[in-house]
Amino acid sequence: MDNDTIAAISTPIGEGAIGIVRLSGENSIPIVDRLFKSPSGKRLKDAKTHTIHYGHLYNGDTLVEEVMVSVMKGPKTFTREDVVEINCHGGIVSVNRVLETVLANGARLAEPGEFTKRAFMNGRIDLSQAEAIMDLIRAKTDRAMNVALGQMEGRLSRMIRRLRSEILEVLAQVEVNIDYPEYDDVEEMTHHMLKEKALFVKREIRRLLDTARQGKILREGVATVIIGRPNVGKSSLLNSFARENKAIVTDIPGTTRDVIEEYVNIKGVPLKLIDTAGIRETEDTVERIGVERSRKVLKEADLILFVLSNNDEITEEDRALFQMIKGMEAIIVINKTDLSTKINVREVEKLGEGRRIVYTSLMEERGLEQLEDAIASMFFSGEIETDDFTYVSNARHISLLNDALKSADDVLNGIEAGLPVDILQIDMTKIWEILGEITGDTVHDELINQLFSQFCLGK
Ligand code: GDP
Ligand code: ZN
Repeated sequence: MDNDTIAAISTPIGEGAIGIVRLSGENSIPIVDRLFKSPSGKRLKDAKTHTIHYGHLYNGDTLVEEVMVSVMKGPKTFTREDVVEINCHGGIVSVNRVLETVLANGARLAEPGEFTKRAFMNGRIDLSQAEAIMDLIRAKTDRAMNVALGQMEGRLSRMIRRLRSEILEVLAQVEVNIDYPEYDDVEEMTHHMLKEKALFVKREIRRLLDTARQGKILREGVATVIIGRPNVGKSSLLNSFARENKAIVTDIPGTTRDVIEEYVNIKGVPLKLIDTAGIRETEDTVERIGVERSRKVLKEADLILFVLSNNDEITEEDRALFQMIKGMEAIIVINKTDLSTKINVREVEKLGEGRRIVYTSLMEERGLEQLEDAIASMFFSGEIETDDFTYVSNARHISLLNDALKSADDVLNGIEAGLPVDILQIDMTKIWEILGEITGDTVHDELINQLFSQFCLGK
């Protein structure tokens, strides 16, 4: 690989008050150092890693921009190379001017996805993560969404690695059975083991492929339903989220719509927020909970935000809602903390069965940050498990998974036909290798090492 120093604008074009030009490569610090003057005369090349510096960028004698420069030395960077980020305010014109200046002074314009490619080449991320990010770059989605999908693809890698280690385990056991037969029916036992594992692998891969078919996450986000009695602050919550977080897509609520949807980006997690407001507020008391319709919306929810009012006692309606969300992932939002406390928090804790409780005053714009943190941490820890997850989003992965499925069938057919174990082993190993191509893990040496590290064959 070439070790040019590359540069590109890393903020979405034409948006936001701050623009960032990012450089990566061994000359990124010296290049910017030559162009940068700080009021104190401090040089960037003497700067400690992960520090930020105020100053001005000059092209020769010409002032280009007032900037903040972050210096990050490899390997603790996204690309594992030295990275410099030049933050400049102003719009696209000034960002472009900064980019042109660094390009005129030794950096090369990065190709699309090149930062990510370097991160992979330098072992910072694995192949499936790199591909996920590159797909996203191609899809021109929001920058923060790249982060989200990168992390999600980390989940794919984890799942694949788990499958692979299960396969390795059975291969190692087969090996032991063959070399050290302790039973007379070792052949039959080995067949049985391989069959179990092949069936397991098939099931898991099918599951992954199912999520690939749905491919919803990018379009739809995590389905998040806001529920609560009338007047507790559901619409206010939806509006606050939409205001604070750049909405990705906005659905204008039509007059006949009974749910209002808004797409927002919460700390890199794409959410489809659904306010059930229209369901309830327009109808009379009996219908208000709109049980049937709410159930339908709730059934499709990945996450529920249950809003209560700090200023009211818990009502039967609240209890009915608690009942309705039994077993679902939910965060309880106690809103209107600016008003006097009439709610019995003990009781909420009990009804909430250990779910997270976040306190907000949407009126005074307090608590939203904590709520966002709670959502993001549930998502990234995997607590929010949505069926709609695109663990697999990429054509190469899908085709490899199908290949692996075929090899699993070969194993099963082979067992059926009574093939000798060493033939079955080959097909089983093939599944392991194919899955390894998804994560880009190396193949043969690892198999051998694992076999020896897992089992002390010499005993
Ligand atoms: P919804 O019926 O659950 O959608 O509730 P809304 O969001 O429409 O809010 C109902 C009323 O409560 C509105 O008048 C809001 O301005 C008010 N409200 C919302 N949040 C707060 C809050 O944190 N404190 C106070 N005092 N009022 C609030
Ligand atoms: Zn409302």
